[in-house]
Amino acid sequence: MSRFVSDKLNEISPYIPGEQPQDKKYIKLNTNENPYFTSERAVGAITKEDLLGLKRYSDPECTPLKKTIANYYGVGQNNVLITNGSDEALAFCFQAYGRCGACYADITYGFYDVFAHMYDCPAEHIPLEDDFTIDITKYFAKGKTVVIANPNAQTGIALDVGDIEKIVQHNADNIVIIDQAYVDFFGQNAIPLIKKYNNLVVVNTFSKSRSLAGARVGYIVADEHLIVDLNKVKYSFHPYNVNTISMLLAKNAMEDEDYFTQCVSKIIAAREEMSEELKKLGFTVLPSSANFVLARTDKMGGKQLYEKLKENGILVRHFSDRRIDDFVRITVGTDEETKILIKTIKNILESK
Ligand code: PMP
Repeated sequence: MSRFVSDKLNEISPYIPGEQPQDKKYIKLNTNENPYFTSERAVGAITKEDLLGLKRYSDPECTPLKKTIANYYGVGQNNVLITNGSDEALAFCFQAYGRCGACYADITYGFYDVFAHMYDCPAEHIPLEDDFTIDITKYFAKGKTVVIANPNAQTGIALDVGDIEKIVQHNADNIVIIDQAYVDFFGQNAIPLIKKYNNLVVVNTFSKSRSLAGARVGYIVADEHLIVDLNKVKYSFHPYNVNTISMLLAKNAMEDEDYFTQCVSKIIAAREEMSEELKKLGFTVLPSSANFVLARTDKMGGKQLYEKLKENGILVRHFSDRRIDDFVRITVGTDEETKILIKTIKNILESK
């Protein structure tokens, strides 16, 4: 880094995204993307006029998409804020509500620590139980911002929406952020709770269940007063935060419900199939409600399995956090990809 950089930036360990190799073709099961293409109907609905319209700045309010999301969930447009991926939504939340401190699980989405550092939020890590579940009572009356990924990142384990509601009730004087990046593979959405609780912020994305990771669109649903706070952050940072084409793609994708439900059910079925096959090979597989599974075998360390799979053209993710460093995280791919994965793992373990 240069000598001009601030001490804080100098100290920060930035988020390390999963590999996005451009050189070689891998079976890519490392960053929890959707294996299926973006809805063709959504892409086909983009017109030449939309493209020519790029001479203008994008609508800072993303009005068409905001309307679509509000209708979809039966909330008001003033309960919705559109962001550049849900990472930006989370960044806005940490900026608006993190100064009083933030708490989250010791094993969860790695970006929370980066945001906490970046935006001067004292962070508390609440250990998951031995079986990687969350004991909700550890999240009661925290007096600081509570952040929960549900289903949780890295483990895939989800809390029932009834438990989420209890956490929200027991934190009436502070904000609870529920990061729902993987919620559609679980099926219990916390968004309806925003009508009852004015301390709940729900963060969602188009990156996973709606196959739009590269378009970078996320959104926040919350009480209208919270949306005013978060808009203040947005308009102090980047008013035109979402580009016109991504906004239209997301709107069109949300209107293609048939394609969405088909993709999601295929992925849920493949997740169950992959978990069963891994168990047959002797793996311990955490019960996932997301589009990935965290799995380990006694026969080989997590890092070694990751490396062997990479040599065989399959990318999965390995994390060096102590509690999960003997696991690999595998994104659910197509049925064909799952078959190749299982066959390759079998070969690797047999040739050991
Ligand atoms: N939350 C969680 C739990 C995630 O795993 C991810 C994806 N890495 C995100 C948020 C951010 O996703 P995006 O910015 O693509 O919406």
